[in-house]
Amino acid sequence: MRIDCKHVWEHISAYIDGEVDASLRADIDRHLETCEICSAVLDSTRNVVILVADDRVFELPAGFSERLHARIDRELEAPGG
Ligand SMILES: [Zn+2]
Repeated sequence: MRIDCKHVWEHISAYIDGEVDASLRADIDRHLETCEICSAVLDSTRNVVILVADDRVFELPAGFSERLHARIDRELEAPGG
């Protein structure tokens, strides 16, 4: 199964806590290998939990680069992820 960045972010806290099931974990692992955005989000989230206000708004950790943030905004707006 191919998953998109939004899907990864929805589950990233559970992923870090080891609470996702094996198949989802494998999908996230595969995504992280090829996605620099989610790799950066994961690195940041290990220390600062991303607050999910709803399924489209993410409070990114302090220190997150504006350029990366802007890129994520574009990803969120892109149809189909
Ligand atoms: Zn991603």
